[in-house]
Amino acid sequence: MQKDGRWSSVPSPSSGQAKFNRRPKSHEPALYREMFLVWAVCAFGFLPGIPPRVAAQSSADKIVHIHCGSLIEGKTGEARSNVTVVVKNDRVSEVISGDAFPGAANTIDLSQETCLPGLIDTHTHVLLQGDVTAADYDEQLLKQSTEYRAILATVNVRRALEYGFTTIRDVETEGAGYADVDVKRAINEGVIPGPRMQVATRAMDVTGAYPLLGYAPNVPVPHGVEVVDGADEGRKAVREQISHGADWIKVYSDRGYRVREDGVLDDIPTFTAEELKAIVDEAHRERRKVASHAIGLHGVHNSVEAGVDTIEHGDYIADGDLKTMVAHGTYYVNTIYVGDYVAQGRAAAGAPVWVKMLSIHEDTFRRAMKAGVKIAFGTDAGGFPWTENPAKEFAYMVKWGMTPGQAIRSATSTAAELLGWSDQVGSVETGKYADIVAVAGDPLKDITLLEHVNFVMKNGVVIKHP
Ligand SMILES: [Zn+2]
Repeated sequence: MQKDGRWSSVPSPSSGQAKFNRRPKSHEPALYREMFLVWAVCAFGFLPGIPPRVAAQSSADKIVHIHCGSLIEGKTGEARSNVTVVVKNDRVSEVISGDAFPGAANTIDLSQETCLPGLIDTHTHVLLQGDVTAADYDEQLLKQSTEYRAILATVNVRRALEYGFTTIRDVETEGAGYADVDVKRAINEGVIPGPRMQVATRAMDVTGAYPLLGYAPNVPVPHGVEVVDGADEGRKAVREQISHGADWIKVYSDRGYRVREDGVLDDIPTFTAEELKAIVDEAHRERRKVASHAIGLHGVHNSVEAGVDTIEHGDYIADGDLKTMVAHGTYYVNTIYVGDYVAQGRAAAGAPVWVKMLSIHEDTFRRAMKAGVKIAFGTDAGGFPWTENPAKEFAYMVKWGMTPGQAIRSATSTAAELLGWSDQVGSVETGKYADIVAVAGDPLKDITLLEHVNFVMKNGVVIKHP
């Protein structure tokens, strides 16, 4: 927890992302030029929300040296001992071997720590506070206003950052409208602390498939998604969500899980192939990517065939679909911990299939690794309460066959690639954002150390210090 109230003050001109969001004043021509560049990049359809690199140097540049006992590189997952990371303003300007500036005043001494790139969680719900059972979920949508949920979300994003997650992809608000767009904006403008975000806004499912369900027909209830039926409604919802700030389109492709006698996890697909293809086509046409919640056989198959960009959860994936995922470059975001977290509670509430799904999920995860599918770290945080550290996911990935280095890569360089931000985040390298975390000890020997991140820097700003 940082103590100096840095994030509650007006963002400084050198605070990177906050900088270009300020209203320009007439005596700030340089800033105005930057804003024009950002506008041009956004208007002509490149990376939404990514500021341009600022090359200009001045005496006002803020230089900090971070001396790390070792540094785990996000791209290789390997450690390099005794390294100095030079941070200039919000960016890494150099990575040098040894204690390059001994005794320098502006040094952060992490010589007893292992430094890593800021962690990336590619599957979160900052507007949700855990939903083991349907009752937990319904209560949030029925008894909490969107405004109250947004207030809770500001606490969740601060927690995410303090856990060491400097970037997240939030894959829908669960009935809280476009509140994720506002949370992201408040972070970017330096109003509240939190990770840099990509957001999916409202998500989509078909009539009768997504909670709230089971109420009397004459009682109107809210839904956790935008309900769409038919290819045209799908296209319209994509357009509408993008116009209100969606970086991603999220679809729920299946429901109604049961284990068949041959061990295959069966499901009820929600969208028809035609509907899914229309949604994916429209999103891609507008340079947005599609995340598909797909847990069982048909949901995954239809999603992969429709050309979605990421499969979320994927408890069961047929070998043929794994092959297609490799061929298409589709990412697998596995979310293991949440499955374990909700299993007993859902079984007690009458759905024992959630307990069986864990071993099916493990088998799929191991087959996906063997097939060479790109696996990106994602937890479903919010599906379990934010008081639980999402970094618990790492231990499950290692237990199910990844090396600690592979698990770290999934949450750094691979996750950055999924977001299309490989040139900005995901490794500690010259020119990238100074998003750096550290732990005491060696996470390559004990991956659970990542549940105890004690140093966090985002955009060159120290959020937490040992
Ligand atoms: Zn989710």
